[in-house]
Amino acid sequence: MTKPRQQRKCKVCNKNIAEWNKSGYCSHCNVKKKKIEEKKREELIKKYKELRQELEKEIHSATLNKFKILNEAFNVGREIYGKNYTVHNLCYDFEYPYTTCKRILSLRKANSKTWKLIKANKISSFKVAMILLQKNVTYQDELVDLVIKENLSTYDIKNLKDGSLKEVNDNRLDIAIQKGFCRQTVAFESFSRYFGRVNSMMVVDINDFPKTKLKKMKEILEETDKNIKEFKNKIEQNEKNK
Ligand SMILES: [Zn+2]
Repeated sequence: MTKPRQQRKCKVCNKNIAEWNKSGYCSHCNVKKKKIEEKKREELIKKYKELRQELEKEIHSATLNKFKILNEAFNVGREIYGKNYTVHNLCYDFEYPYTTCKRILSLRKANSKTWKLIKANKISSFKVAMILLQKNVTYQDELVDLVIKENLSTYDIKNLKDGSLKEVNDNRLDIAIQKGFCRQTVAFESFSRYFGRVNSMMVVDINDFPKTKLKKMKEILEETDKNIKEFKNKIEQNEKNK
């Protein structure tokens, strides 16, 4: 004689549930559980964002504090050793990492307008330091405004560098800003750089590859081919809609 199987019950409310219900919750409790999980996730995301802001603030004030010390040290060093005294000398004497020092001291190039924006918390000192790390800061105000307006991250600023400088030097920054060039130019630049590489790859002798990988390569090419066709179609569609 077989024993009757035990009735499955909801883990929360103890209500009978179907044998096939693997979750262990009745539908009512399952919805509730999902809602609680969702809420918890939202709270975690909020916390995550808060921590990010906290770190940003910390980096901002740390940058300012270090600037105060390093800037004064650099001035004093110049007074002692004269014009040949460099950031390298400072880093050696103070046992401080060069790239960090260079970035922080780039704040020496900040003009009064930029300092006002830093003090008004419109932009962090860290971001300004990143911007002013560029050799050419003739268009400092425009670059700082652009970073504030577009809320560019430090990663964006790094990518912005070359592209923006070219635009800046061509005196086309205003037009470029209107076009929202920063992200778009970067996108196009990486697009053309990638395909430049792809095309030079296509002239490599097939015998330079391992024979065992040729099949895999063909698969990759087929997928790429498909994606390129789709992308080309999108461009053509876009031209038609003009
Ligand atoms: Zn239940």
